[in-house]
Amino acid sequence: YAAKHTGDPVRRWTPALDERAGENARLGGEIRMALDSGQFRVVYQPIVELPSGRVAAVEALVRWEHPLRGMVSPADFIPVAERNGLIVELGEWILRMACHRMAGWRATLGPLAPDRVSVNVSARQLARHGFAATVAAVLAETGLPAPCLAVEMTETAVFEGGQAVVTLNELRALGVRIALDDFGTGHSSLNLLQTVPVDILKVDKSFVDNITEAGRSTVIAEALIQVSRGLGLAAVAEGVETAAQAEALQRLGYSLLQGYYFGRPVADPNFALSTAVAEVRR
Ligand code: C2E
Ligand code: MG
Ligand code: MG
Ligand code: MG
Repeated sequence: YAAKHTGDPVRRWTPALDERAGENARLGGEIRMALDSGQFRVVYQPIVELPSGRVAAVEALVRWEHPLRGMVSPADFIPVAERNGLIVELGEWILRMACHRMAGWRATLGPLAPDRVSVNVSARQLARHGFAATVAAVLAETGLPAPCLAVEMTETAVFEGGQAVVTLNELRALGVRIALDDFGTGHSSLNLLQTVPVDILKVDKSFVDNITEAGRSTVIAEALIQVSRGLGLAAVAEGVETAAQAEALQRLGYSLLQGYYFGRPVADPNFALSTAVAEVRR
């Protein structure tokens, strides 16, 4: 209302914004209750190694089974949890679930178990003193060896500041792998590779979408595989939806692929060799 009188056309308080603010506040309160009443789940998406077809790793992705709203997308509630700080508690719960599950697969599947589980962490978690200590405690508690865990963060989360980089070095010292998520979409991508310890580049889906055409994204995807090779990093291509994309990525030198073509995130992933790969090889 006040903004309206200053004539500011951008910040005018519209009913739509009001609804959204109210909606976010409601959602924020519900996240607290959802944590306490066990409405969150963790699902796992395979990261397939080519040409073997082996599931080399899985990415843990959180799901909220809301009793009334149904499945709420993490894209909708993670930003809310980041703003109200509950991401710290939710993130620790996700980390514990994923490490516990990964330790279980190692115990029951032996050599068929994936090499690691990858867990997404938010800027807010990285910026906390003691995050690495939390990770160390969860590893000890679940009996998971540190190299069997990777933490995924966006470039933007790392960019935000000093403690994030301290945390990354502490995690690295534990033996935990560091993955840069959605690589190439944040700011200062290449500069980060000079300054922070990184093991895995996750090349964003936006570069994969048009990979079958001779366009800009294909040139960039090719350059990124060179960068990762030169720096001795693993490269994962995200969001692979078709056989043609998988083939094109393989031709460029990508050997770790993730996307609906190989499998959606599910509660109980199948660790048999990917049959999708057989089609790719033919
Ligand atoms: P992300 O970490 O980049 O995860 C990849 C997202 O792409 C996931 O969406 C996954 O389901 C989706 N995806 C995978 N393959 C394909 C594909 O072939 N095509 C398409 N169209 N999409 C694909 P999801 O699970 O909805 O998660 C969205 C984002 O929410 C994640 O992006 C991540 O940034 C965040 N997120 C999810 N789980 C967590 C979590 O446990 N903690 C934190 N901090 N963030 C999370
Ligand atoms: Mg991720
Ligand atoms: Mg990603
Ligand atoms: Mg993403």
